[in-house]
Amino acid sequence: MGYLELAIPENIKLVAVSKTKPVEEILKIYQQGQRDFGENKVQELVNKQPNLPQDIYWHFIGHLQTNKVRFIAPFVHLIHSIDSLKLLSEVNRQALKNNRNIDCLLQIYIASEESKFGLDQTEAEELLSSETYQSMSNIRICGVMGMATFTSDKSLIRKEFGNLKSIFNMLRETYFADSVYFNEISMGMSDDYTIAIEEGSTIVRIGSAIFGKRN
Ligand SMILES: *Cc1c(COP(=O)(O)O)cnc(C)c1O
Repeated sequence: MGYLELAIPENIKLVAVSKTKPVEEILKIYQQGQRDFGENKVQELVNKQPNLPQDIYWHFIGHLQTNKVRFIAPFVHLIHSIDSLKLLSEVNRQALKNNRNIDCLLQIYIASEESKFGLDQTEAEELLSSETYQSMSNIRICGVMGMATFTSDKSLIRKEFGNLKSIFNMLRETYFADSVYFNEISMGMSDDYTIAIEEGSTIVRIGSAIFGKRN
C-alpha cells in the first residue's frame, strides 16, 4: 500500500515511521509530499538525517537515553517519548545549548502488557508539578503519546486509547489551562490507527503500512 491510500483525515498529522528503512526508500515517500518522519534509534537517525532533505521534520519515537539526547538536539522536531523528569531536564539542557526550544510529548503507559517505558498518570502529574519542570525554559510539552497493547482485541485497544484521551484531558485542564501548545495526542500505528483516530488521536505514527514489512 502506498502512503496516499491510507486516507488519514487532513486535520491529523501522519508521521511516516522509517526505522530500518534506507534513505532511498524514505526519499521516495518524501517525493510524494510527506515531510514528517519518525525514527526510534538515535544512531540510525543521526546517520540518516544529513543524507536526506533538510526540510524533513524528524520525530523521535523510541526510548531515549539521557546520554544520547545531545546527538539529536540540534535538529529534532518533536520527541514523543519523554518518560522521566531526568530525561526532560537533559532535553532542556541540550535545547539551551543549541539555542532553541524542543517540543516534547509525555509518553503515557496505557497498555495492559508489561513494558519498561512510559509514565502512569500519577508520575506524569508529579513531573508536571515539580519545580524542576516548572523552571525549564527551553522545552514545550505539547501533549501525550501512548501505545496500545499488541493484541487483536479491538475493544481493548479502543479502551486504552480512550484512557489516553481522558488522561490528556485531565492534564490539560489541570496543568495547561493557559497553554496554547498542549494539543497533541500521538496514538495509532499501522494496525490500530483507525481506532486511534476515532478515539481522538491528533498524530498517527505509521511504518509498515507505508514502507512495507520490516525484517
Ligand atoms: C515502529 C513504531 C511505530 C510504527 O509501527 P507500524 O506497526 O510499523 O506502523 C509506531 N510507533 C512506535 C513507537 C514505533 O516504535
